[in-house]
Amino acid sequence: MSEPAAERHYEPVIGLEIHVQLKTRTKMFCGCALSFGEEPNTRTCPICLGHPGTLPTTNAEAVHFGLMIALALGCDVAPRSIFHRKNYFYPDLPKGYQISQYDIPLARNGQLGDVRIHRVHLEEDAAKLVHAGSTGRLHSAEASVIDFNRGGTPLVEIVTEPDLRSASDAADWARLLRATLRTMGVSDVNMEEGSLRCDANVSIRPVGESTFGTKTELKNMNSFRFLERGMEAELARQEGLVRDGREVEQETLHFDPQTGALTALRSKEYAHDYRYFPEPDLVPLAPTEAMLTRAREALPELPAARAERLESEVGLPADTARLLAFRGELGDFYEAALAADGAVDARALASWVTNELQARLGDVEDPADSRVEPAALARLVAMVGERRISQSAAKEVLDVLAAEGGDPEAIAAERSLEMAGGDEIAEIVERALEQNADAVEQVRSGNQKAIGAIVGAVMRETKGRADGGEVQRLIREKIGA
Ligand code: ADP
Ligand code: ZN
Ligand code: MG
Repeated sequence: MSEPAAERHYEPVIGLEIHVQLKTRTKMFCGCALSFGEEPNTRTCPICLGHPGTLPTTNAEAVHFGLMIALALGCDVAPRSIFHRKNYFYPDLPKGYQISQYDIPLARNGQLGDVRIHRVHLEEDAAKLVHAGSTGRLHSAEASVIDFNRGGTPLVEIVTEPDLRSASDAADWARLLRATLRTMGVSDVNMEEGSLRCDANVSIRPVGESTFGTKTELKNMNSFRFLERGMEAELARQEGLVRDGREVEQETLHFDPQTGALTALRSKEYAHDYRYFPEPDLVPLAPTEAMLTRAREALPELPAARAERLESEVGLPADTARLLAFRGELGDFYEAALAADGAVDARALASWVTNELQARLGDVEDPADSRVEPAALARLVAMVGERRISQSAAKEVLDVLAAEGGDPEAIAAERSLEMAGGDEIAEIVERALEQNADAVEQVRSGNQKAIGAIVGAVMRETKGRADGGEVQRLIREKIGA
């Protein structure tokens, strides 16, 4: 029953491998402080430089963060995991091996959202190779220099099962993971700075097929947008190959977001033989009940649970709940505002936070760093609900709040933005009816649309300080339509 390839539909299969730099005070196996852009090679010692005769000691805080991550991802923690030496020669690795975990990782079999977690393990980061061309310090294009500050930084590697079925789902899931890690405070999770690094394993298969196709690996995308675009490009490339009757080759690829090009880094033929063997200088990692309890108790409410709560308990639409939960700082602002004003409608407030407020934040990521106080936004949204101010006038007040801060009641009063009172409106409506006799006639003879002209006249007169629905009601009442 073979269909022609051109008519076949293909389904993406994606699994992610994520490296997370832990925000511990010191490195994974030595006492050096972590580095944040210090002068190169100022955060080093004989241990992380791999001098002979030195002994590594496992960082207890890194283990604690690793356990928090394992538990947050619903994994089974291994009663006893061990470290291995992963041997390879590269200038960024002074020891000639990386200490990592191999056949018995810290934790396995978890789940986040609808993606299963294959494993979570601890390891150390390599040093950083800086190619002279990019520093501009050296003139020879051949030269590379090494900064050992990063070498030995604690890493957690998270490997998913190949459960993702589209590039955009994969990027969304990676955002959920980042939000989760950020909420836990275990990492800076900054992709541009490399504290969160994401490799995507990508393959396609005919829809309905149960076995997987050959995968390629996209290395180290430094933003979610590029990650998604890289996966899209690679999926399209693979589909082109397969439709041409050719085969996907297992290889590691680099995606250039500038040009959209995919280039091979290494293919399977050059696959490393890492000659893993147990690290003889480290004891096995056997978390005690006390360590597990401490890790469990250190977990805050995680974004997936928060989205669930905002939806089911607060009654927000699912996408708004997710936006607030996954951008935790927006969620914090929202919940502070909600608690600050008993009169505000929860859904209306959520919509103001995710739309109008966010649009006015500019480069400010966290609304807590803006001039708008949660209570001030809540009051403003409550004023709209109480019909004391129109939507458009409220947006004007929010402009002022974002620029200068302050109290929405005072700003509205100062700028005469409050809704016109009943008597004033009645007078203006009366005048509008006189000046729009034609429209009044048309409404009377059944042309409902003609009422728009009269409403428009009233709104112009009040400079938007009237409620459109209320004005319409008044007009109908007065002309008996
Ligand atoms: P490898 O041995 O090449 O490292 P693994 O089986 O350890 O491969 O898987 C590494 C990553 O690749 C995991 O995230 C996994 O989900 C993903 N993966 C495995 N097979 C496929 C496939 N056929 N298509 C897409 N992703 C895959
Ligand atoms: Zn050191
Ligand atoms: Mg693997």
